Amino acid sequence: MDFRFTPEQESFRKEVRDFLESEMAKGIFKPRCDAWIIGHSPEFSRKIGEKGWIGMTWPKEYGGQGRSYLDRLVLTEELLRYGAPVAAHWFSDRQIGPSIITYGTEEQKKEFLPKIINGEIYFGLGMSEPEAGSDLAALNTRAVEDENGFVLNGQKVWTSGAHSFNYIYLVVRTDPDVPKHKGISEMIVDLNSPGISVNPLVDMTGGRHFNEVFFDNVRVPKTAIIGKRNEGWKQIVAQLDYERSGMERVMANYPLFEAILKYAKETKYKGQPLSKHPLIRQRLAQLTVEFEVGRLLIYKVAWVLSQKRIPNYEASLAKTFCTEFQQRLARTAMEILGPYSQLKPESERAALDGMAVHSFLITPGYTLQAGTSEVLRNILAMRGLGLPAA
Ligand SMILES: Cc1cc2nc3c(=O)[nH]c(=O)nc-3n(C[C@H](O)[C@H](O)[C@H](O)COP(=O)(O)OP(=O)(O)OC[C@H]3O[C@@H](n4cnc5c(N)ncnc54)[C@H](O)[C@@H]3O)c2cc1C
Repeated sequence: MDFRFTPEQESFRKEVRDFLESEMAKGIFKPRCDAWIIGHSPEFSRKIGEKGWIGMTWPKEYGGQGRSYLDRLVLTEELLRYGAPVAAHWFSDRQIGPSIITYGTEEQKKEFLPKIINGEIYFGLGMSEPEAGSDLAALNTRAVEDENGFVLNGQKVWTSGAHSFNYIYLVVRTDPDVPKHKGISEMIVDLNSPGISVNPLVDMTGGRHFNEVFFDNVRVPKTAIIGKRNEGWKQIVAQLDYERSGMERVMANYPLFEAILKYAKETKYKGQPLSKHPLIRQRLAQLTVEFEVGRLLIYKVAWVLSQKRIPNYEASLAKTFCTEFQQRLARTAMEILGPYSQLKPESERAALDGMAVHSFLITPGYTLQAGTSEVLRNILAMRGLGLPAA
C-alpha cells in the first residue's frame, strides 16, 4: 500500500478546498456536524454535480469521470472536513449509482445515472422494517406481480431523508414461499407514487432526519426491479460494504473535532491554555491517534476496492472502529466544555454552536445504522478471523 497522494490528487484536494472556502465566504453554508445526512440542499448538490464531483468513479459513457476510488476519497474527505451540505446526493453517489452500474439494465443506467450525476434526483434507502433490522432477510414488504407490474404493500422504518428525497431504493419480498434469503428483490420506486406515505420520526436531538414509510397498494412497473428477481440478497450484501466504509464513518463530526482542538488551545485555565492541562492533553492526543487510525482504515477499504476485491471484513472493521471513535469524540468534547456544552445552538450561550451536544445525542445511532457494532464484530470474527459462526 502506497500512503502518498499523487501530485494530481494533491492539486485536486486544493481545488475542492478552494471551492468550499469560496462557498463559505459567500455564506452559502456554515460547517455543520452530520451534514452528510442532515444537510439536504439540492442547490448545493447541483453545484457539486456541475463540477463533475458526483459519480466521479463511474464510467464516462454514463456521464461519470472514470476516476479512482482514492480520488473520490480525497473529495469526500474535504466535503466532510468543511461540514458541507451534501446529504441530497450522498447515498446515490456512495451506493445507489454503483448498484445500478453493477446490476441495472442499459435502460436503467441511461435513465438514472445522468440524473444522479447532475444532482437532479435523490435516493433514500428502504431496507429496515419494524421486524427486520440486523436480520434484514426477515423483511415483509411484499411486491406481488400482476400483468401490469408489481403491487407493493408494507412498511419501512428509519428511512433517512425519505421526506426530502424523490426516489427510494427498496428491498422487497417477491417470493414468500422460499427460504427467506432467496425471495428478495431490489427495486427503484418513485416516492411520489400514489399509496406512499411518509411519517417523520423525531430523534434525540429534536431533529427530523428519518421516517417511517408506508406502502399501500403502490403500483410500480416491471422495469422497477434492479438486477435479478429473487436474488437481491447477494446484491444487498455487496452494497452494504460501500455503505459502511465511507469517510463519513470517521469524519461526520470533523467540525467538532477541529473546534474542540482550537478551543483547548485558545481557552485559558488558571492563566494557561486549557490544552496544557495534562488530562486534556492526553485525551486530545488519544483522539488524534484514533482519528488517524480510522482514516487509514477507510483508505484501506478504498484500496481494496481499487484492487477489484470485496472489502467485506475490512469495511466492518473500519465502520466499527470509526463510529466508536466518534462517540468518544463527542463525550470528550462534552467533558472539556463542561455544563455549557449541553445548551443547544438556539441558546446564545451554547458552546461551539451546540455542536458537542448534537454529536453526543446523534452518535449513539452511528453504531446502529448500516449494521450494529455487534453484528459487524460477528462479521469480523467469521470472515476476518475465520472463527466458526456463533
Ligand atoms: C441514524 C439511523 C439512520 C438509519 N437510516 C436508515 C436508512 O436510511 N434506511 C434503512 O433501511 N435503515 C436505516 N437505519 C436502520 C438501521 O439499519 C437499523 O437500526 C440496524 O440495522 C439495526 O436494526 P434494528 O434497529 O432493528 O436493531 P435490532 O436488529 O433489533 O438489534 C437490537 C440489538 O440486538 C443486537 N443484535 C441483533 N442481532 C445480533 C446478532 N446476531 N449478534 C449480536 N447482537 C445482535 C444488535 O446489535 C442491537 O444491539 C438507520 C438507523 C439509524 C440509527
